[in-house]
Amino acid sequence: MFLRISYFLLYTILYKNLKSQKNILYVSKNLKRLIEQEVYDAIDEIADEFKLNVPIYPEVYYVHKNLKFESLGYVKEHKESFQISKYENESFSSFKPSFIFIGTWNTWHIFEEAGHFLHISQSNLKIGKRSQHDVLATHVLDEMIGYFCSKIGNSSRKPMFRNLPDAIHEREKCIKITEKNGWDFYEFLVYQQGYGLGEKLFNYYISNIISRKKIKKLFTNPLEKKNEALLTFHKLKNNILE
Ligand SMILES: [Zn+2]
Repeated sequence: MFLRISYFLLYTILYKNLKSQKNILYVSKNLKRLIEQEVYDAIDEIADEFKLNVPIYPEVYYVHKNLKFESLGYVKEHKESFQISKYENESFSSFKPSFIFIGTWNTWHIFEEAGHFLHISQSNLKIGKRSQHDVLATHVLDEMIGYFCSKIGNSSRKPMFRNLPDAIHEREKCIKITEKNGWDFYEFLVYQQGYGLGEKLFNYYISNIISRKKIKKLFTNPLEKKNEALLTFHKLKNNILE
């Protein structure tokens, strides 16, 4: 009798466990399908607006707490971005291999990553052998496009650094602020400058100050010439839009 009950208990526990694992798999698959559709729609919407080709659609994952990196089959170098998506709710996009991790399921994250994906896939942008400043400018321009695209999805977004002094002109003040908040100064520069420029670009675009064609060029330009990213950054910063 005792043994029978034990077998019964064991069977119940195992069956329940198996069932819940199946459920997780089922939920994960469903989530993947849903998030993928939203990201693909965002990619199509941005591509239609700026007459861009979509060479390939990425694999898309909503990085929820039950999703395991190992189940995705990517090499270890992508684990860090996966972990940041999972525990800090950030989102990431990669062109080679093509995937997007969504850490926060909302329109801003979806359109920002769709924008990054289109930018990298259209321009074939490479960091390569750039000067230190040109690398920084390349990252800033990429965040500018990502932020700009998030406003195409939902224009109510405002840059979170808008009350902070401009990093280029008030470097010392910015360093103090970032130290006080425990932020990485490089990352702060990229987002403060990139999102600020993205906000300006969006306002210029909806006011017809900058044309659709010029925005398309920002998506497709590989910025290969010496210090071209830096020059493009300075031009946009100083409102030179030719
Ligand atoms: Zn971004």
